[in-house]
Amino acid sequence: MTTAAKKRKRMTIARFAGFCGGVAMAVKGAEKLLSENEVYCIGDIIHNSFVIESLKKKGLKTVSSVEEIPPHSHMIIRAHGLPLEEISSLTKKGCVVHDFTCPILKKIHKDIIQLKRKGHEIAIIGNPRHAEVKAFVSRAGEKVSVISKALDADALPYARCRAIICQSTISGDLFVSLAAKALGKSAQTLVIDTICSDAKKRRKEAVALAKKSKMVIIVGDSKSSNTMTLSVIVGKHCAVALISSADEVKKNKIRYPLAIVSGASSPRELVLDIARKVC
Ligand code: SF4
Repeated sequence: MTTAAKKRKRMTIARFAGFCGGVAMAVKGAEKLLSENEVYCIGDIIHNSFVIESLKKKGLKTVSSVEEIPPHSHMIIRAHGLPLEEISSLTKKGCVVHDFTCPILKKIHKDIIQLKRKGHEIAIIGNPRHAEVKAFVSRAGEKVSVISKALDADALPYARCRAIICQSTISGDLFVSLAAKALGKSAQTLVIDTICSDAKKRRKEAVALAKKSKMVIIVGDSKSSNTMTLSVIVGKHCAVALISSADEVKKNKIRYPLAIVSGASSPRELVLDIARKVC
């Protein structure tokens, strides 16, 4: 290839592409346990079919509820965390619970419990069906509210004292706009930005790359909240292709300069596989 052709086909792989710390810890922990035991997990351990398939081959059993887990089994809590009621049911069944909740989310769990003790009603901005939000809700007391759209903020009951937090993977714009709407619904409001620092770092780098590129490949799964948020943010600056495996690369559709970034649940090896397929 000539120098001019090489320049035309410039490709950059993001420094922060690959697993985030929380996902890396959960996958590594699951792999270690699977070398010794049959292990259950409620819901997909991470939102990445490539990794799920590989862990399934090693013996990971994914179920959708506590009831499906036999008594005294080994089970893992995935990085998103688990509602308190489910942890308690598992303990009652004599299950050995291995907790791989992301430390960043564990810190938010502690903060929620403390805020509740201090008399705050908790409002969570995020998707009520997402596992992470369900785990927050279970720790936030009876007066918790979940805000996923403007109408939810409008419908908030009036509170004397409220703390507003958010799902760790939502966009900053959504957090600010919904928190602003909820502000008038309490006499005192504490707004805490609980968007994950890893997600912020990843987005900042992706936007910088998108501004210098004609296309960004985002490696990740459409079920992953942080991947979809990344895709919306990057899509404001250039064309986006969401790809979950090297088989999905369509060379004739690629535009250069190209950048490759990833969601938090895509392993670095998958990102590099996709980059090799592109070349
Ligand atoms: S995206 Fe952030 S909060 Fe979520 S698992 Fe990764 S490090 Fe933890």
